[in-house]
Amino acid sequence: TKLRVGLLFGGRSGEHEVSISSARAIARALSWEENVSKYEILPFYIQKDGFWQAGEVAQQVLDTGVAIQNPAQTPNLWTFPPQTAEVDVWFPILHGPNGEDGTIQGLLTLNQVPFVGSGVLGSAVGMDKIAMKTAFAQAGLPQVKYKAITRAQVWSNPCVFPKLCDEIESTLGYPCFVKPANLGSSVGIAKVRSRQELEAALDSAASYDRRIIVEAGVVAREVECAVLGNDQPQASVIGEITFTSDFYDYETKYTEGKADLLIPAALPAAIVSQIQEMAIQAFLAVDAAGLSRVDFFYVEATGEIFINEINTLPGFTATSMYPQLWAATGIPFEKLVDQLIQFALERSK
Ligand code: ADP
Ligand code: MG
Ligand code: MG
Repeated sequence: TKLRVGLLFGGRSGEHEVSISSARAIARALSWEENVSKYEILPFYIQKDGFWQAGEVAQQVLDTGVAIQNPAQTPNLWTFPPQTAEVDVWFPILHGPNGEDGTIQGLLTLNQVPFVGSGVLGSAVGMDKIAMKTAFAQAGLPQVKYKAITRAQVWSNPCVFPKLCDEIESTLGYPCFVKPANLGSSVGIAKVRSRQELEAALDSAASYDRRIIVEAGVVAREVECAVLGNDQPQASVIGEITFTSDFYDYETKYTEGKADLLIPAALPAAIVSQIQEMAIQAFLAVDAAGLSRVDFFYVEATGEIFINEINTLPGFTATSMYPQLWAATGIPFEKLVDQLIQFALERSK
């Protein structure tokens, strides 16, 4: 009998459409001859308002790639479609808040059915840039200088705020990057070059998140490594992202032609193995499972490598970095999807 794979996509985040594209690519891979004899897809589509759709409606979104724009239902998050009871293994492919941050992983854990990817801890630590950096620092991974800030420091006390800005200026300098701690896709991130920009960026970041991080800016190449596995994870070849915009912002990420992926990146062999080693350490440091994409800054002039972040549910469309890195390493997309499901089953034993 076939294993019924609950493909869970859409979701309540800014990356709803990316999630649909990722799910379509995974569905195609599951329909490939060697997988079709093993797996059957049960689609579950989470609307932008949080309502769960299964059956024909979910299948239609999967087939057409078009999100349901004006959902008619009133979301009742504690009512799930009856098909959820038939799932043998979940494949959540939801990016960003409510998908990649441990919330859905908690629900699936309560459901007592194996699922692809990191559990509650790995997802939550990987999502929150402050917790993530604390874990990386503890593991001895090199990072740019940073400072963790809360919304309360920005908004609640007019006496504290100027001192906070003084401290950022003296310890991090300009340019620096102001980021909401729990987002992705560069949403809410600002590169600031003056006191005025810093104040505005902190205020804006506080509107996105209770937790904020400010980092010293670095001039570097952006390189990424894919990790696959559970307790003995493997690292892929390294990829590089190039673009002409000021930084890798939302528009650059999602506008066709604004960024290029180079696989493999042209790097000295010693740097490649160092990055691969660091990617695995990062994966273990946050207790990730199944898959992650680990992103780095490489300063060519000095040979320095700084870890930037881990993404526990990276983009998984046909053209996304994660599956492309594995394809270049020798694991084609269809096989990768199969292996991820097998790692989910292994982990639940
Ligand atoms: P996200 O999780 O939204 O992808 P990142 O922390 O990866 O957030 O930041 C998005 C982009 O912003 C990076 O890919 C890079 O281009 C730029 N960036 C972020 N932090 C720095 C930094 N400290 N120095 C230089 N560029 C940075
Ligand atoms: Mg990220
Ligand atoms: Mg990033």
